[in-house]
Amino acid sequence: MMVGKVSEPRREKAIARDIRVLAQFISLFCRENHGEAPRSALRADGILKKYLAGKAPELCIECRRLLLHGAVKRALCPHDPKPRCKKCPDHCYAPGYRERIRGVMRFSGMHLIRRGRLDLLRKLLF
Ligand SMILES: [Zn+2]
Repeated sequence: MMVGKVSEPRREKAIARDIRVLAQFISLFCRENHGEAPRSALRADGILKKYLAGKAPELCIECRRLLLHGAVKRALCPHDPKPRCKKCPDHCYAPGYRERIRGVMRFSGMHLIRRGRLDLLRKLLF
């Protein structure tokens, strides 16, 4: 029996949850900051299909790229359980994307706090 198999459903669930949160944060950011930009749903293929198919939010092209990048990195994260990105020894985001995702997390986190949606924030940040 393969040792890794035992924890596979738990790992899959964690990845799915994190990618859902990522999509929600980017979606909120995009709606509030790129309202004028043309938007469409991310077409998820390959390893991301099962996590995003039918659930991908409508985003501008820059935010679609960011979500795609973040989702791939999350799905391929070699650490299990995944540490918080801030604490991780490997910074796996490509240059530029890391700053952008931090900006998105800060904005959307603050947005939820200002709107009194601490409940949602807590749920999203586990
Ligand atoms: Zn956007």
